[in-house]
Amino acid sequence: MKALLLLALPWALAAQQPKQMKPEDTEYWTPVPRIVTPGKTNAEAPSDAIRLFDGKSLDEWVSARTGGAAGWTVNGDGTFTVDKKTGDIKTKRSFKSFQLHIEWKIPEGITGTSQARGNSGVFMGHLGDGGYELQIMDSYENPTYVNGQAGSIYKQNPPLVNAARKPGEWQSYDVVWNAPTFNADGSVATPATETVFHNGVLVQNNFTLKGVTKYIGIPDYKKHDALPILLQSHGDPSAPISFRNIWLREL
Ligand code: MG
Repeated sequence: MKALLLLALPWALAAQQPKQMKPEDTEYWTPVPRIVTPGKTNAEAPSDAIRLFDGKSLDEWVSARTGGAAGWTVNGDGTFTVDKKTGDIKTKRSFKSFQLHIEWKIPEGITGTSQARGNSGVFMGHLGDGGYELQIMDSYENPTYVNGQAGSIYKQNPPLVNAARKPGEWQSYDVVWNAPTFNADGSVATPATETVFHNGVLVQNNFTLKGVTKYIGIPDYKKHDALPILLQSHGDPSAPISFRNIWLREL
């Protein structure tokens, strides 16, 4: 009897639909999405992107340590390389939610193990002494704690899969970052969420962050507005990594 009732239910619901609906009754024509001209490839900046590295200069960046010029090495071939002596660099501009494309390369012949092998990172927002780190390091046949390998939301969530390329090959992250929002009293209204494709492979699927990255301890949130993006100069002794083609679309 119960089974019969369940079977009958969809028919009962269908019967409640207004009779004689036309296809156009559920179609709408405005507002019209604005036009964005895509790049020639999906890695190339679309027309509405902010280029954070155009291949020639680090004008969009400053030293996180001094606020002066970013001291990393622009190579003249459309790439730049971390200069570990000068520390982290961050964007001059601040952002809330965005779509980010960034390419990076672990040098061929990299040495070291675990976290001391090509360690860097991109922070979706940087607040003074911390931020939200998406880990960059060599994770090609280089075991480490899984919530610290490439593609992890550092110390919060491992990547769904390991999509790392070999050292010496360019790799990409495509990120959708929804910045957290806060109530007037400083409490979290909506936590940050992050989706990441590593070399085109989904590795973070709308993950909800527990707060800012903590090397030691439990992540937490502190109220903030728009923040700069930061690239990490890690103190590990391995050879410095390189970046190219960084662009962002504000959401
Ligand atoms: Mg790192």
